[in-house]
This record gives sequence, structure tokens and C-alpha cells, in this order.
Amino acid sequence: MAFIIDGNKIAADIRKEVKTQAMELKEKEGVVPGLAVVLVGEAPASLVYVKRKGIACAEVGFLSREYRLPSDAKEKDLLEVIAGLNSEKEIHGILVQLPLPIHINPDTIIEAIDFRKDVDGFHPYNMGRLLAGNPAHVACTPKGIVELIKRSGITIEGKEAVIVGRSNIVGKPLALLLLAHHATVTVCHTRTIHLSEITKRADILVAAVGKPEMIKADMVKAGAVVIDVGVNRLDDGRLAGDVDFTEVAEKASYITPVPGGVGPMTIAMLLKNTLDAARLSAK
Ligand code: NDP
Repeated sequence: MAFIIDGNKIAADIRKEVKTQAMELKEKEGVVPGLAVVLVGEAPASLVYVKRKGIACAEVGFLSREYRLPSDAKEKDLLEVIAGLNSEKEIHGILVQLPLPIHINPDTIIEAIDFRKDVDGFHPYNMGRLLAGNPAHVACTPKGIVELIKRSGITIEGKEAVIVGRSNIVGKPLALLLLAHHATVTVCHTRTIHLSEITKRADILVAAVGKPEMIKADMVKAGAVVIDVGVNRLDDGRLAGDVDFTEVAEKASYITPVPGGVGPMTIAMLLKNTLDAARLSAK
């Protein structure tokens, strides 16, 4: 039976560290980290995420501000809000909650954020820095995954890592991060042929697909580290990951649960990125 990686516990440890470091920053430099979260529309999942981010900020002593625009807000309205936040001294991190309504181009919005305040790590400048092997703000979920692996005492260097999923927010940045940690990385997607042949090679297997329980035990090497990024709501209301936890846990050496694995790390890394942005502004 695999060791179950406790994302809630590791994320709580990180939040504690962030809180202490934020207090030190306030004492030494008089700077309180500030995060602005911008929400367009009222999608229920986004409302929940935004609320959680506000609570997490309050717990570590950050300033947090929420900006809400109606779902029919124009792109230029959102750009105006971002321009204002870019020049606000008290705000060190800007997060625009995705997805945006269809009439707003997310790339235009992300590129409008000052890259120093891009705590989501989605700005082309930050993506480029990661690609160049000189990361600045790194996307929160991939950063959280690497932190989970390292804090569980698992070595990345020299390992064969396979990621299923190539999105800009998880799969691609994670591939670059694992490469920077000297793993040998393969990225799979819908056009991958013989998927299970590749996943079975993995010492570290990451599923970021969005398909409930699609990774089965026969796709996993005995003793592999299995990280499940998926968050899928089943018809009966339960949450399921992309990994069939019950059968894969019998074969893996380490596994993350859903919920309570990668999820809590994403917000912890958002706090860490905001703290880093505030420190930079103090310099
Ligand atoms: P996307 O839908 O953007 O990307 C999914 C990826 O999976 C694509 O690259 C797609 O390939 C690939 N894929 C889909 N089906 C298959 C298949 N049958 N075989 C192989 N590859 C496949 O999703 P995200 O990256 O945004 O999210 C992935 C999952 O992670 C979701 O469940 C999401 O909810 C969750 N998530 C969780 C977070 C957390 O904090 N815990 C944060 C972000 C996401 P192709 O490119 O060819 O279409």
C-alpha cells in the first residue's frame, strides 16, 4: 500500500512559514503583502475559489482585495481595473480568476498584468523565464506539485517523469519545472499512442487530464510516485481525481489523494508568490 501524501498538512506548514516571513517583512520593511483577486461574472466554482483565496490571505496577515465585474463587462472595463492595480503600491499580486466569459480574450488580460505582479505565473514573461531555466513567478499548481514531491523526501533528479496533460496552467509548466530539477520528462496528451506503455515507464507519474479515474493500476509501474491533479465532480456529487485511487494505491509507493493532495498546495503557492512579489517591491 502506498504512502498517502498529505497535501493539507504540507500546505498548512507552508502557510505557517509564509505567515512568519510576512511578519518579518512588515517589521523590517514596513511592507504588508497585498493580493487583488478580480472576478468577472458569478460562476459558482469561481466564487468558491475567490472566497478561499481571501480567507487564506487573511490567515497569513496579507491585505486582500476583491474586485467584481458583471458577466457582461467589456474587455476594456477589465483592462482598466488591471491598469489601476498595476500602479497600486499596496497591491503586489494580481490574480484574474479564470475562466473568463467567452467575449473576453484571456491572453489579452494576462498580458496586461504587470509581470512582477503576475502571481499566477501565466504572463508570457514568467512562462519565458521558466522556459529559459531562470524562473520568476511560477504557476501555482505545478510549483505546488514539485513542493509536495520534495517535502515528501522524494528525489526528482535522474527520475523518469511522465505527465499526462499538456495545458498551459499545469502540464507544460510542470514539465519545465521537473526538467529544471533534472528529471527525464515525457508529456502525454490526447494524440499520444500507446499511453499506458509510456505511463508504465514513470518513476513519477502526474495525471492532469480532467477525466475521472482514467489512470488504472495496469498503467502504473510498481513503486511509482503518483500525483493526481484532477478535480472531477461525479454525478453523485463526489469529487474524484484522474487516478483510480483504490487500485493504484496498492501498486504505487506514494500517492496523492483527491481532495487533500495537490488542491491545497495551489493556494499555498499563491501566497508564496505574493510574498515574493512583495519582497521584490521592497528592494
Ligand atoms: P485541460 O482540459 O486544459 O487539459 C487537459 C489535458 O489532458 C490536455 O492536454 C488533453 O490533451 C489531455 N487529455 C485529455 N484527455 C486525455 C486522454 N484520454 N488521454 C491523454 N491525455 C488526455 O485541463 P487542466 O490542465 O486545466 O486541468 C486538468 C485537471 O486538473 C482538471 O481536472 C482540473 O480540474 C484539475 N486542476 C486542478 C488544480 C488544483 O489546484 N488541484 C488546478 C488546475 C487544474 P490535448 O492537449 O491533446 O487536448
